[in-house]
Amino acid sequence: MKIYNTQTRQKEDFTPVEPGKVKLYACGPTVYNYFHIGNARTFMFFDVVRRYFEYAGYDVTFVQNITDIDDKIIQQSIAENVPFEKVAEHYTKAFFEDTKKLGLRPTDHAPKATEYIGKMIGFIRDLEKKGFAYEADGDVYFSVDKLDNYGSLSGKKTDEQMVGARIQENKQKRNPLDFTLWKKSKPGEPTWNSPWGEGRPGWHTECVVMSRDLLGDTFDIHGGAIDLVFPHHENEQAQAYAQNGKPLSNYWMHGGFLNMSGEKMSKSLGNFFTTRDVLKKFDPEVIRLFFLSKHYRSPIDYSPELLEETKSGVANFYDALDFVDFLKIEGNKPQFGEKAQGFVDSFKAVMDDDFNTAKAVAILFDLARLIKNLDEPIEERVQYAHALVEIGSVLGFFSNLDEKLRKDDLSGKLIEMMIEYRQLFKKEKNYAMADKIRNDLNEIGIELLDTKDGTIWKSKRK
Ligand code: AMP
Ligand code: ZN
Repeated sequence: MKIYNTQTRQKEDFTPVEPGKVKLYACGPTVYNYFHIGNARTFMFFDVVRRYFEYAGYDVTFVQNITDIDDKIIQQSIAENVPFEKVAEHYTKAFFEDTKKLGLRPTDHAPKATEYIGKMIGFIRDLEKKGFAYEADGDVYFSVDKLDNYGSLSGKKTDEQMVGARIQENKQKRNPLDFTLWKKSKPGEPTWNSPWGEGRPGWHTECVVMSRDLLGDTFDIHGGAIDLVFPHHENEQAQAYAQNGKPLSNYWMHGGFLNMSGEKMSKSLGNFFTTRDVLKKFDPEVIRLFFLSKHYRSPIDYSPELLEETKSGVANFYDALDFVDFLKIEGNKPQFGEKAQGFVDSFKAVMDDDFNTAKAVAILFDLARLIKNLDEPIEERVQYAHALVEIGSVLGFFSNLDEKLRKDDLSGKLIEMMIEYRQLFKKEKNYAMADKIRNDLNEIGIELLDTKDGTIWKSKRK
């Protein structure tokens, strides 16, 4: 399997730290608001990464943190006039509800920053002892000049970092790029006691401490969208190196943005749709197909119209399965013949190539087309249906297959209705219409047989 590693800026063969295991950490939400559909793109991608590794036979541990203490949460608590814990609690609950609705499987661990304050203090203390951190008036900073390879993840030179990070003037810092490990609290703000006085930990420290605690000193994959490369992940990596000389993660994966008219969707710009609102109008599988139809590192422009257009794609998969009465054949998965196996193998090949879900989605469409092609032998079409479900499930589709297809049992009822109308037309001697019904049904694979006991129908589809 090959993964594009931000650290080396190339695709590399994946070798896990422990054979057969994958330790995966994706940065989670800051819970001060409902997460937007851009965040959902990134969260969903890592859901697919996890599912695919499991399909490939790995034992995966997937961690996604909840940032439940942060400046934005404090601002929101002031705006809503409720304690910060209430803000965090409310939006954490909303995060779990919405990710579930979105069809994301629960992660193995969802550590909260506030549960790790003690360990973070211990970690910062260690950095201080090793000479990488300094205190200035109750704040503690990481000294980037002390680390030789600072900047290696983002590959930026120091002056570029300054521009990228829009570093604010801060006279306390020895180098403007030094970042906060511990922040002194102002009166009225949430606070924890520490060797440097009352305060709270910085965001970059949170992820290092929690990921290493749950996954080990060096784990396999650390991810997020590209906005996290600098400064967040650069600073996580710097702290890890400083503290024990080991890389935090062997592979760094970063997804492209979901944009609005070419600009990153973000809460601060105000150009966003919450996932909660989008889910009111669109089925989660439509959202999934919309995202996975593009490579994860490419940007995607969001618009409700484009989502609307994606609906027919999802409907097409279910149509195909209904076409071979998948519900009735579901239990007995056939041995895949060469052709069906070929599709499954191609799926593995494209996913092994840095999770090319765009090509994987194209395979789903090819299969759906073949399933509906009456010129193909029925045994083959049944195999294709099983292949479609197997591959689709790895990508996170078809979790409610039974329920969705059962709704389509309506088709039987509709055929009975058409037969009744045909009888009525015949009675009125409108043979043109009666024949039209017979021919139209025939075209979609339904054969009518007139017997002395009335008209019966046979599906040629299965
Ligand atoms: P945040 O709550 O801003 O820390 O973001 C949570 C996750 O969503 C992080 O992995 C971000 O990199 C990612 N993210 C933020 N904005 C976007 C966007 N417009 N498109 C895709 N991913 C995003
Ligand atoms: Zn993080």
